[in-house]
Amino acid sequence: MRGDNVKEADFEWQLKAFKALVGINPAVIIVDRELAMLNAFETLFPETPVTLCVWHVRRAIEEYCRKFFLSPTEYKKFFQLWMDYESSGNEGEEIRNREVLLNPESYIGQLKDGEMAAKIIRYLQTTWINPHHVRIVKRYVDTVRHLGVHITSGVEKMHDVLKKFLKKFDKVGGFHSFALALDKVVKVQGLALQNKLGKQGSSVGVPWRDVAFFDQIMHNVSDYAIAKVFEPYQEINSDELTEQYFASCTGYHKRCLGYPCKHVMGRYIQRRMKLPLSGFHDHWIAPEMRLQSTYSTSEPMLIIGDRMLPSREPETNAERTGRGRLESGFEPQRREHGY
Ligand SMILES: [Zn+2]
Repeated sequence: MRGDNVKEADFEWQLKAFKALVGINPAVIIVDRELAMLNAFETLFPETPVTLCVWHVRRAIEEYCRKFFLSPTEYKKFFQLWMDYESSGNEGEEIRNREVLLNPESYIGQLKDGEMAAKIIRYLQTTWINPHHVRIVKRYVDTVRHLGVHITSGVEKMHDVLKKFLKKFDKVGGFHSFALALDKVVKVQGLALQNKLGKQGSSVGVPWRDVAFFDQIMHNVSDYAIAKVFEPYQEINSDELTEQYFASCTGYHKRCLGYPCKHVMGRYIQRRMKLPLSGFHDHWIAPEMRLQSTYSTSEPMLIIGDRMLPSREPETNAERTGRGRLESGFEPQRREHGY
């Protein structure tokens, strides 16, 4: 346990430095079940929800469980049960799917040895389900603004670039040359990113180029986010914008992804308005436009921007939510939108 404490202190130091450097709270944090890191994040960024990288979770389960099954086909059946559990959207589904997953009878005839069912069940329970269900199961994960990110592979890719770059400096050694190399990597990546963003400003060849509805967001919102809303936009038929249509909105896009769904867009179409920048979370907006964005104030189902929240000191356990993690800053403001 002592080792874990030291590790956590290390992470806390690094994160404190990071926090001082960037000066903002991240919208969401995704970790690969490094417990010390998880705790350090929750202490340093109490307003930010922390979820687990689904890819790492699934890989760890495969690593532990696969060997117990008679064949890949049998393992696949088991893995499907895990996937069902992961994608539980409400309490009823969660209970049902967990029961099947943790029932030894689900594995009769699939294992090399019947005794192994207990081992698998204990592993799933103690390693993942009991401590981390709120960071894994859809019904919990989809209450936080995760911006559609569920895996850490993007960061790992960057980490790879950094490692390759640093290798060149290996022979020189020393902290000073390391710091110089690090600085260079960040600058190179910054330039690449700027280059990419510059290309986005041109709108040459993008399918929404002449769509007036997107006038206000074009050039101000990332192409990625516009593409995400353009597809459902094309499917909106203004004759079908009935109250029933709006009633089917769950608020998932606004709450979790930070960009508007077909229902919100339908409302603007109905009012003959253009899609405003305020429908997009800062994450999707070009840096120079962020000050002008009003994501938090103009729609009925709004989420408060992290930057506007007063900073909070790390809390005690008593203030943790019933879901076993610190409540994120925007949760009290969260509500379903009334469409
Ligand atoms: Zn909707």
